[in-house]
Amino acid sequence: MTTIVLCERCCTPCSVSPERNEQARLLRHADTGVCVNCAVTAFLRTMEPLASVLAAKGPEVLLNEAAQAQFAAVLAAGFADARADEIDWRVVVAQWDLSDLSTPDGDS
Ligand SMILES: [Zn+2]
Repeated sequence: MTTIVLCERCCTPCSVSPERNEQARLLRHADTGVCVNCAVTAFLRTMEPLASVLAAKGPEVLLNEAAQAQFAAVLAAGFADARADEIDWRVVVAQWDLSDLSTPDGDS
């Protein structure tokens, strides 16, 4: 049975997976509704050294195929639930500056 919820960050409808890989070390399917693109964004913003590179060069570097291939390798190594081909990098970049769920800043 699939539950459809709106992503808590970007309001994209997404399905909550009935199964999750408890072995996943990163990007494990969440109980709350955050779409894969937002999960990837939150991950990238906190994973060094990528976070620093992205902060310095901007998220547009993610549109680079070599960068995407590197990230796919990171996902595979971490046994992530998210698959690289589920990620829409253009959406990730377009929504990069939406509020970050992982580091809520109280009074903006
Ligand atoms: Zn989202």
